[in-house]
Amino acid sequence: MSKKYYRLYCEICNWKKVTDGSEIDGLVEVKTSPVPGGVPKFDPIKNKTITPKSIKQLKKYKCPKCGRVVTPRKITNPQEKIDQYNAEQEREKERKQWEALEKKAIEKYERTKVEYEEEQDRIDRS
Ligand SMILES: [Zn+2]
Repeated sequence: MSKKYYRLYCEICNWKKVTDGSEIDGLVEVKTSPVPGGVPKFDPIKNKTITPKSIKQLKKYKCPKCGRVVTPRKITNPQEKIDQYNAEQEREKERKQWEALEKKAIEKYERTKVEYEEEQDRIDRS
């Protein structure tokens, strides 16, 4: 079962936190007023005004570092992102290893070439 995760990120001071919602006790919630769901409509049959339900807003928190309002953003499957990141790191490591090998091979070739040319020079001079 995949848990829902939220990422809190403060754009002002770069403070960030990833939470599944259970460890936000230490944070100060910022009270937000509900957003109206729309214009109230008059129902002629029931002879009364229907007010649409207000849209529930995501909770907002105060950044513990600078006090700005931070809105949590939902993270979909963080494990997938972690796996992806690790795979990228692995590929990068491999690529660097290959690069190092290639560099070594080129250096060895250059050295051999120089040695060969020096050898040829010696032969030519003698
Ligand atoms: Zn902040």
